[in-house]
Amino acid sequence: MIARVSQTLRGALLVDVVGAFFLTFKHLLRPKMTVNYPFERGPQSPRFRGEHALRRYANGEERCIACKLCEAICPAQAITIEAEPREDGSRRTTRYDIDMVKCIYCGLCQEACPVDAIVEGPNSEFATETREELYYDKARLLDNGDRWERQIAKNLEMDASWR
Ligand code: SF4
Ligand code: SF4
Repeated sequence: MIARVSQTLRGALLVDVVGAFFLTFKHLLRPKMTVNYPFERGPQSPRFRGEHALRRYANGEERCIACKLCEAICPAQAITIEAEPREDGSRRTTRYDIDMVKCIYCGLCQEACPVDAIVEGPNSEFATETREELYYDKARLLDNGDRWERQIAKNLEMDASWR
């Protein structure tokens, strides 16, 4: 009974309407919380897990030593690696595929890699129209590494003390 009377009074006195007006005016002159994406962007964590990339050393040599730890740890079984020794005896991949449709962006491949070869870079804008385009091969991953190396290296450096 008391609750119904209280509800009726609130309605008659327009308490909720007045409250909504106050809330609107309170935020009217404050800075906007929205960003005009893609022209404006919010800050991004150095730990952001975006599109994958395979990195090279500064001399252009591939970092990946084909140890397959990333393939073994991937919970989605999204990574497929084939490898064979080169003439100089070094072990390198002949195939490195990631099925990005299967990938759950857990970051375990990056954590497992002993040479920081496979990483999840800062790029989040890689939407496609077909599933086939999300089947990344080694060339695509190395190309991503070359394109994003500066940002990736900076992010790894910023996060180094926490790893
Ligand atoms: S981020 Fe996770 S799911 Fe995706 S490839 Fe790496 S280990 Fe597999
Ligand atoms: S990316 Fe790293 S973990 Fe995966 S095979 Fe290459 S060296 Fe090993």
